[in-house]
Amino acid sequence: MPDIIAIGGGQASFSFVNKLRSLGCNKSITIICSENFLPYQRPPLSKKFLAGEFEKNRLLFRTKNFYNENKINTIIGQRVVKIDRKQNKIFLDSGRFLKYKILFLGLGSKPRLLKTDNKIISNIFYIRNIENVELFANEFQYKKKLLILGGGYIGLEVAAVARKMGIDVTIIETQKRILNRSTSKFVSNYLKKIHKQNGVYVKEDTSVKKFMIKGNKFFGVLTEENEEIIADFLLIGIGAEPNTKIASDAGLTINNGIRINEHCMTDDPRILAAGDCVSFKYNEEFIRLESVGNAIEQSEVAAENVFGIKRKYRPVPWFWSDQYDYKLQTAGLNTGFTNVFHRMDKNKNSFWYYKDNKFISVDAINDPISYMIGKKMLEMNKTPDPNEISSSNNDLKRILREMR
Ligand SMILES: Cc1cc2nc3c(=O)[nH]c(=O)nc-3n(C[C@H](O)[C@H](O)[C@H](O)COP(=O)(O)OP(=O)(O)OC[C@H]3O[C@@H](n4cnc5c(N)ncnc54)[C@H](O)[C@@H]3O)c2cc1C
Repeated sequence: MPDIIAIGGGQASFSFVNKLRSLGCNKSITIICSENFLPYQRPPLSKKFLAGEFEKNRLLFRTKNFYNENKINTIIGQRVVKIDRKQNKIFLDSGRFLKYKILFLGLGSKPRLLKTDNKIISNIFYIRNIENVELFANEFQYKKKLLILGGGYIGLEVAAVARKMGIDVTIIETQKRILNRSTSKFVSNYLKKIHKQNGVYVKEDTSVKKFMIKGNKFFGVLTEENEEIIADFLLIGIGAEPNTKIASDAGLTINNGIRINEHCMTDDPRILAAGDCVSFKYNEEFIRLESVGNAIEQSEVAAENVFGIKRKYRPVPWFWSDQYDYKLQTAGLNTGFTNVFHRMDKNKNSFWYYKDNKFISVDAINDPISYMIGKKMLEMNKTPDPNEISSSNNDLKRILREMR
């Protein structure tokens, strides 16, 4: 009987089992992934993997050897369909069951779907896993006009790859600006300008009135302003929803994700959870984050708690996105900011957000130093003088040193 079972083949489950072994945990561990791959990382899917610059094997966190050497049992290509908390059992879609002492849920999220009357449309795509991307990337050889619904990070990254491959790209965003939910207007406008310079047609504040479909093929949309946009294929990037079904069926509290406490524990002390599938308390609100940093840090806290180290999760969220030759790096969350200060040094740009005079977040574009120093300050819970930060003549390392 495995002592510890981790469900999921993504960043969260991998980080959890990896941390347990690195702490010296010698209990038996099993990891179960519904996809036909060993646990792998998703960020390259919309970047180098889509562009054909990254081999499939490079997506894997570790090869099979790692799991063998660390005595981590892997069950691949099987989905957990039920958790029985009374008997401490999980059931797989193959009909098999396993008993657990500790269960970890790293269930991730799934793309929000477009409603197409349940018809299967062969040229509408989503990007969440290797299979989705392989199908989508294959179309790049034949198709010339791509319509992307949703100007979030995934839509923008795909637009950048598609443009490099000579595909015509239109992005339709329903909200008043791209990245409206994820960042400030400063970063949205900065990135929009770059996309426009690269030939992307960006339409914001626009809804689709009609999807034009013939048989099982999509061929365009009619917008609310009656503009017809014809395209050969469509990518939907309208957000993601947490995978919570097996947790809610098991009676765990769900509220935009599986509710966890600061020890990454659900309301059943034998069940921990982390990553895209959870919601947790941050500055008095319950939030859900979809980022590698969040998945790693929560899972490591969960592992430490299982190992007997009572650590609390104190997040300083971090995130990155690659588009063309630009790398955006973010530390902290800028929700509710009251002031923003722009620091510019040649082609390096950073935006420093303050809420009621307290520094809360930094967005840095092609500026890793601003990102690193800003993140450090957030971890130290320090607020730099915005006038000092804004001038590129002032050395950030010195400002940080003087704060210690
Ligand atoms: C295309 C793309 C690009 C991204 N780019 C970035 C980026 O640049 N920077 C960044 O910080 N973040 C990025 N992200 C987000 C980041 O990848 C996620 O936040 C991270 O993968 C979350 O890890 P996770 O383990 O919680 O979930 P996932 O990685 O989604 O893993 C969940 C796994 O659990 C499996 N599973 C679910 N239910 C079951 C079940 N019942 N039984 C068995 N297995 C199950 C799923 O199939 C999946 O393999 C990107 C995401 C995508 C999709």
